[in-house]
Amino acid sequence: MRCPYCAFLEDKVIDSRPGKDGRSIRRRRECQACHERFTSYERIEESFPMIVKKDKTREEYNRDKLLGGIKIACNKLPISTQRIDEVISNIERKLIEESASEVTVEFLGTTVMEALRGLDPVAYIRFASVYREFEGIEEFLRELNRMESEAESE
Ligand SMILES: [Zn+2]
Repeated sequence: MRCPYCAFLEDKVIDSRPGKDGRSIRRRRECQACHERFTSYERIEESFPMIVKKDKTREEYNRDKLLGGIKIACNKLPISTQRIDEVISNIERKLIEESASEVTVEFLGTTVMEALRGLDPVAYIRFASVYREFEGIEEFLRELNRMESEAESE
């Protein structure tokens, strides 16, 4: 968290307690550079499982990354941003409903495919045809980005 005094990015949490509304956490922090203290409030987010990749490494669920991939699959299709948001919310609900600490990247990929199937057949086919060929969502997203930039340069 950025220090409000000197803008340094490293700090040490010295105290954490629930906020008054019960939906946030209040943390006292000390800047590692100037040692000023400040308070942050963080919303308690529903927690997502870690994503286990093919090589057994784990990464945190990342909404922006998922959004990026879905936007590319939906590129130039008549799908509103709001519909895409709904699709992502549905995917996130499924992830949370699993109540697991980890899910595989295949699980995530399948969940995305199911969600896109209900959204638009073209987006679904784009996602599915690329996804099946690849090790995981990482590579899939890279490939979509590549396809995207090629489409733009045509
Ligand atoms: Zn500071």
